[in-house]
Amino acid sequence: MPYTKEIYEKAQEIIDERRKAAENKNAGIIRLFETIEPEYTALKQEMITSVKEVVKAIDMSPEKAAEFIQQQKIKNLTAQQNIRLLLQKHSLPEDYLEIKYSCPVCEDTGFSENKLCTCHIQLLKELAFEEAGKKSPLKFCLFEDFRFDYYPDEKISGVSARDRMRDIYSFCKEYADTFDTSNSSVFMTGKTGLGKTHLSLAIAGDVIRKGYTVLYNSAQNIFTMLQKERFGKSDTNGAYEAMVLECDLLVIDDLGAEFVTQFTNAALYNIINTRINLGLPTIISSNLTLQEIENEYSTRISSRIIGEYSILCFEGKDIRQLKSENDD
Ligand SMILES: [Zn+2]
Repeated sequence: MPYTKEIYEKAQEIIDERRKAAENKNAGIIRLFETIEPEYTALKQEMITSVKEVVKAIDMSPEKAAEFIQQQKIKNLTAQQNIRLLLQKHSLPEDYLEIKYSCPVCEDTGFSENKLCTCHIQLLKELAFEEAGKKSPLKFCLFEDFRFDYYPDEKISGVSARDRMRDIYSFCKEYADTFDTSNSSVFMTGKTGLGKTHLSLAIAGDVIRKGYTVLYNSAQNIFTMLQKERFGKSDTNGAYEAMVLECDLLVIDDLGAEFVTQFTNAALYNIINTRINLGLPTIISSNLTLQEIENEYSTRISSRIIGEYSILCFEGKDIRQLKSENDD
C-alpha cells in the first residue's frame, strides 16, 4: 500500500523512539544490577576482552592459534556462565540483562533483511488510518447510547418499528462483536434520521478497537478524495484509494447525497466490486432504496448489492425530529 511522505516519516520517528526507549530501559537495568552485583562489570569486561583477543591468533602458528582460541572461548563461556549464576542468585531470568525490543525481529530498526519489517508495515497502516479518521467529519457512536424509545411501539401487521429496530440493533451488535474480515457486507437503507449512521459508526468504533483497519466517511467525501487523487490534486499518491479498497472494513455513509457523475458511478462500482473480490466487508448506508440506487447509479451496482450484501431496512419517523420535539 502506498503512503504519504509524512506517514513514512512519522512511522520512522516512532520506531526510533521505541528503540531508544528499549535501550535506555536496558541501560538502567544494567546500572542497577552493577550496583547490587559489582562482579558483573568485571565479568562483562572479560567477555568483551576474550572476543577482542582472538585477533592475536593471526600471528601464531596454527597449533598455537587453535590452543589460544580455545582458551579465549573457555574464558568467554566461563564469564557467561558466571553471569548466569549471578542472575540465578537473584532469581532473575536469563535474558534479564538483554535489551527487550518491542519487535525482536528487527530490533526496533524497522527493517529486516533489507526490507520493511512487518512491525513497520503495521505501523504505517495504523498511522494512515488514524490520519484518515481525523479527516472524517463523522464521530464514533456507541451501541450503549442507542435509544429505542424514539421508535413507535404500535404494531403494524404484528410488528412495531421498535421491534424492527431491536432486530437491526442485535444484528449490528453481533456483527461488531464477532467481526472478522469474512463478515458479510451490509446495506442500510431508510429515510434520514432513523439511526443508520449511529449504528454503522458504532460498528466502526468497535471494529477499530479490535485492531482492524477501518475507513469511514461520507460517500461525498470519499468520492472527492478519490477524484483529487486521480487527477493529481492531492499528495496522497494513491494511498487513499488503496485504503478504500484494502481496509478491513469500509463504511460509506449517506450514499446518494452526493452529486452522481460518471466518475462517482465508476468509482462506486469499483469499490463494491473490488472489495467483494478481495472478500472484504463494506457497510453502506443510504437514504435511497435499492430501486433508487439502480435508477441513480446502475443495475450492475444494485445487482452486486442484492447478491452479496445483507440488507437492513430502517423504518419509522425521523428520530432526530422526534428528539428535537422532545427537547422543546
Ligand atoms: Zn520489526
